[in-house]
This record gives sequence, structure tokens and C-alpha cells, in this order.
Amino acid sequence: MLDDLIGHLPQHGTISSLPVRSRLLIVDDEPLILEGLSRLLGARDYEVVTANGGYEALTAIGRQQFDVILLDLGMPDLNGSEVLRFVAEHCADTPVIVVSGDSTIDAAIRALRGGAADFVRKPYEAEELLRRVDNTLIRRRLEKENNSILQRLQQSEKWHRFLVNSSPDFIYTLDDAGRFTFVNDRVESLLGYRREDLLGQHYSIVIHEDDMARAEHIFNERRAGDRNARNIEIRLKCNPGMRRPRLMNGRCKAVELTATGMYDEEAGIFERRFIGSYGVAKDVTERKQAEETVHFQAYHDLLTGLPNRALFRDHLGLMLAQAKRNQQPLAVLSLDLDHFKVINDSLGHTIGDELLLMVGTRLRQCLREGDTLARLGGDEFAVLLPNLVSRGDVEHTCRKIIQVLSKPAYVKGHEIYISVSIGACVAPEDGELLDSLIRQAEIAMYQAKSDGRSRLQFWESGMQAPYSDRMQLEVDLRRALVRNEFVLFYQPQVDTLSGELRGFEALLRWWHPQRGLLTPVDFIPVAEESGVIVPIGDWVLHQASAQMAAWRKAGLPPLRLSVNISARQLESPDFVDSVMHALQVHALDGHQMELEITESLLMRDFEANAVKLGRLSTAGIRLAIDDFGTGYSSFKYLSRFPIHSLKIDQSFVQELDREENLSIVNAMIAMGRGMNLTVIAEGVETEAQRARLQQMQCHEMQGYYYSAPLSGHAATALLGQHAHGIGQTKHLAVS
Ligand code: C2E
Ligand code: CA
Ligand code: CA
Repeated sequence: MLDDLIGHLPQHGTISSLPVRSRLLIVDDEPLILEGLSRLLGARDYEVVTANGGYEALTAIGRQQFDVILLDLGMPDLNGSEVLRFVAEHCADTPVIVVSGDSTIDAAIRALRGGAADFVRKPYEAEELLRRVDNTLIRRRLEKENNSILQRLQQSEKWHRFLVNSSPDFIYTLDDAGRFTFVNDRVESLLGYRREDLLGQHYSIVIHEDDMARAEHIFNERRAGDRNARNIEIRLKCNPGMRRPRLMNGRCKAVELTATGMYDEEAGIFERRFIGSYGVAKDVTERKQAEETVHFQAYHDLLTGLPNRALFRDHLGLMLAQAKRNQQPLAVLSLDLDHFKVINDSLGHTIGDELLLMVGTRLRQCLREGDTLARLGGDEFAVLLPNLVSRGDVEHTCRKIIQVLSKPAYVKGHEIYISVSIGACVAPEDGELLDSLIRQAEIAMYQAKSDGRSRLQFWESGMQAPYSDRMQLEVDLRRALVRNEFVLFYQPQVDTLSGELRGFEALLRWWHPQRGLLTPVDFIPVAEESGVIVPIGDWVLHQASAQMAAWRKAGLPPLRLSVNISARQLESPDFVDSVMHALQVHALDGHQMELEITESLLMRDFEANAVKLGRLSTAGIRLAIDDFGTGYSSFKYLSRFPIHSLKIDQSFVQELDREENLSIVNAMIAMGRGMNLTVIAEGVETEAQRARLQQMQCHEMQGYYYSAPLSGHAATALLGQHAHGIGQTKHLAVS
């Protein structure tokens, strides 16, 4: 059998030659044989060591390693079988060829049983002996290589198992019937199942009922290779019987799932047999929760949990369309608490907040299921009453509201009396335009207040005093550009940690000939509506560029300058060209300019904006999301635009001491950082806010705490200080 095996081995000389010189030990008590063998093998370029007896052999073996031992059996001092046993015990991988005068088959069998690799009879034939030695050496080398491959394989399998099991993702394979054949350890912490619980089970055991159809679709499609199903969002159910449910943080997990079909590779391409699928599920629960929080916040008032102005407008839009179809009128109410400011100022914000909460609850009690109640801000509420029969319905509801609210409220030991003034208008009678309906209800509410408060006033067509004001403003605005009445102010944006200046935001001001210095809230809405904002915006771009060019000329450092962009401007087909033009005229580098755009504006015309902003980004111009958190806040959409900065809206920053704001801001900062954006907090007014934001690793800040918006002159001085390294004071001079 041994010879059989050896017969299959390639012959010496035809194979790759042995790597290093092999070392042989020859053991024989017969000096002639020892010398003969030694000469024969020495001529073959083997390193030969000789031992003339058993003891000398053991000494040699103890001293160094041999690749082959040629061993005589009958020796007077210590016989060969003893040496053989010693070798088997101490260096089992050294092959021994027994060279013996005992020619019985019995002797051979004994030697091989004792661990010998081969047996050669004396007297030996030189050719035969050499062949046996060579073959033994080759076989030993192959065995050694084989062993090391096996070891590496085992090692690599160990690594793979380790990597798979310590993966943060759930990794699985399914058989052709959809049953788990493998799951990694992650499943325990993710879903609360032990691996054994799932093996052999159908995947439906972990899929949320509502997502079952989608899961079936994914697994039935059986796409392979690059066509596999990627990042499909799906919910997985946690083990209902798990031991520590609280640790799992909820009963189901949102994951992004991939699935790839596996096919029998042996079968021909026409009969590829589906054998199962494999894939990965990535836990995205936290990201989803954060997104939902931000999203909820975008549409709700945080104090009362009521819809905010954005959601109210949404509802009103829907209801207006429905009212048209059903031909049933609806009413918009504007409610404002009387003298709330007095209560707030005298009893404090905490009590003011409690009171607002209570008002919310009481108002809700007066309304039907389908009515919408919203808090628009401060002590201002709005109500939408759909499906009316007559104005009488409105009067009835408002009577109830006025009555319920006039009951005394008890807050923290105080007995408080409040009342409410209500303005109302009815669609389609008073108009059908969303914003004008809200506006008209507000005008009526002001009328109710000036008529003695705590009452309801319907809007009437005569009430349009604010409108004529608006006409005058529009006329003034058009003239302002020609008369050069606009100026830019610059508000510093500084590094949160070091307080170092990073850039400025350009803010528009209007020196009105009669009314003095006006801020944008006074005129931007009208400029927007009338379209004058487009030439004004153009002026802002040029003025900002001119300022940067002037700073460069004065040798001041090239910091970032941010410019606010309004809806009409972005929508204009020449927008990109006018930005480029402003830069070209002043030979500026695009990197210095940042455009501030709100989210809702971006979403308005998604595709067109993506193209425009892409062009600007190619020119190096930076893009910031302004008032972040007050719009859609969908990170998925955001990632489609070339954005560089996020500006967290001041409303969050100014009420950072509220727990819910804190977690929202935290989520926004974390996500902004995750998307590699510069996160800037706006409206930072106090050291406490600064410290909190620094703790949350917000990159930059802007607000009165550092500096109010500065005139061009003051901004230049500040930039000069910064250039000379003396601008890092925490609190800059307020000009
Ligand atoms: P914005 O972009 O959110 O600008 C920040 C506003 O917050 C500025 O009001 C700024 O003066 C004010 N502010 C800064 N720090 C603080 C603070 O610590 N506390 C508080 N309470 N407020 C702070 P401003 O200058 O009245 O501008 C109001 C809005 O008008 C801006 O809001 C922006 O949307 C718009 N706007 C300003 N300049 C332009 C412009 O050139 N073009 C267009 N289209 N819009 C502009
Ligand atoms: Ca801004
Ligand atoms: Ca802002």
C-alpha cells in the first residue's frame, strides 16, 4: 500500500527541486554500511549526519532536526525499535526509513507499525534506496504544505466567522423555501432571538405584518449579482417572548434590507436552480426615530403638540379643495388671548406655558372631530371649521369657546382669568385663497380686539386698511433701489470652540426716508409678493461681492460671506447666471460665497433646483440650508443637493432648555455631522446656549452673544482684528 502511494508520486528530478538542502541522519553500527550510505547520499547533495549506534542517534536527534532518518534495527547498544519509538514520541513528523538485514515480512510490518515511513532490505540497491529517500522527502514536504494550507484555512474561517458575528448588521441566509439556514450573533441583540430559535424557521416569523407583502416581493424576486434587492426599508419584529424587552428599545426595528438570490453553480445556465438567498439587514431605527422627531416638530408646536402654521396651511389647502367639491362652506378662525403678555410678564414663562397648554385643551373640547386646531405662535391660535351649514354654526362654536375660556384657570396656586378675541371668515363667500383667508381672519380678530375684546368678529370687505399700507410699501420699495436706500449689514459667524471668526452673513437693511431703518421682516414679504425681490436680490449679490473684493484689496483674509436667497430669485431662470455674473465682475473665487436657502424653497421645484444648484456647486459656491428644522427636514432629500452647511433655526436655540428641543438639536447636529456638513446654530444669545451647543459639537454659531449684525465699516474693523490674531474674544462689541 505504501508503495502504491509512492508510485503515484512524481519522480525525483521531474518535480520542482527540493527547496533547501535536506538533512539526513544515517544510523548503523556497521561502519562499512555507514560509510557506504553516507557516500551515496552525500553525492546527492544531501547534508548527511551519521550515528554508529542507538545512543548516538538519540543525541543527534536531540541536537538538530532531520528531514529523514535511515535506521538500522539490530544494534548492540540500543536497538532500532527503541529509536523508532523515541522518534514517534518526540518528533513524529520526521520520517524514518528502516534499513534492515532482517528480510522477513514480519520485520517490515513491525517496523511500519512502529511508525516507520518505509522499509528497505539490506543489502540495498543504490538506485532503489535513493528513490525511496527522495520519495519520502517529497511526501514529507507535501504533507507539510498541506498542513499549513489547512491551518491557514482554519484560521481564515475563524476570522470570517468572527467578522460575520461581530458585524453591526444582521446577516442571514435562507434556503429555497425561505427558512433561515444561517443567522449571525447580531440577531440576539437586534431582535432578541437566539440563533437556534431562528434556524429552520420561515423568515415571516420576523417580518412585521404590514411589511409582509414587500418582504415576499423582495425574496421572491430572487435577483442575483448586481441586480440584487438593495436597501429596502422594512420593519422586523422582535421576539415577543424575549427576556429583557426594555433593552431592545421597542417591539420592532426598522432595517434596510438587502437580498441576493443564490443559484446552483453546477447546473447548466439553462437550468440554474434557485437554492436560497443571502443578505444583510442594517438597523436604521435610530435614524428613523430622529427623522420622525424632526418631522413631527416641523409640523407641530412643541409646547402644546398642536399643529403649527405649516400644518394648518396644509389642512386648509386640502379642506378648501374638498369644500369646493362638496359645495359646503368652511370657516377660518383666528384666536388671540387678551392680555396674555401681562400674565406672562408678571407670573413668568412657566405659568404662561401651563396656561397655554390649558387653553389648548379647553379649545379642543369645544370642537368637533374633523376640526383643526393649531397654535400659530405665542398666544395666537387658529381653527378650521369644515363642512358648515351656515354662519350660525360659527357663532355657536365661538360662543362656546368664549364661554369655556372665561372660566377661571388654576395654575400653580394662581387663579387666572383670561378671555379671547376671535376673528372669522368663511370660504368661499369671503374668498378662496388660502393665505388671504388666514389674513382676513386675522384682520377681523384685530377688529374684535379694538371693539372691546372677548368677542367674535366676522371679516367684512371694508376691513382692508393693512392692504393700502402694503400698496404704499410696494411703491416705496421700487423707488428704494433707484434711490440707493438699501445697505447690507454683516453678522459674524464664529467657531464654537475657539470663538474665532469664520465668516459673515449678509443681512439686508432699508433706510426708509420716513420710517427709518427697516429690517427684512418689515418689507421682504411684500417684496416677495410683488416680485421686487428679484432686482433687490441681485443688488444684494453684487453688494456682497463688492464688499468681499474690497476686503481682498485691503489685504484682509478671504472669509466666507453668506447671502440669503428668496423663492422668487431661485425660481428666476437667470438665477445661476446672475450669481456667476456678480462673482465675475469682482473677480472673486466661488468658494468664498455661500448661498442660504430654506428647505421648503428647495423642495418647491426639486428637479429644476437640483440642476441650478449643481451648476453653482461646480463653480465652487457653497450652499447652506437656512432655518433648518422648520421645514420638511427630510435627510433623504437633502442628500440629493450639494449642501455644505446646515443652519439650525433660532427657535430651537433660544429654547434650548426645553428637553424636546435639546434632543432635536442634538439629532440635527449629529445628522449634519454625519453628512459631513458644517453645522451653524443661529440666534445664540447666552453663554448657557453656547456651552450646550459646544457640548453637542455644533461647529459654528451666530447670534447676539457674539455680535449683532455689523455695518460694513464695523465688520471691516473686526476682520482686521481677526487678521492680526486679536479677534478671538468671546464677546465682540455690539455696534
Ligand atoms: P435669517 O436668515 O434667519 O437671518 C437671521 C436673523 O436673525 C436676522 O434678522 C438677524 O438679525 C437675527 N438675529 C441674529 N442673531 C440673533 C439673536 O441672537 N437673537 C435674535 N432674536 N435674532 C438674531 P434680520 O436681519 O431681521 O433678517 C430676517 C430675515 O430676513 C432673515 O432671516 C432672512 O430670511 C431675511 N433676509 C435678510 N437679508 C436678506 C436678503 O438680503 N435677501 C433675502 N431674500 N432675505 C433676507
Ligand atoms: Ca439666513
Ligand atoms: Ca435663519
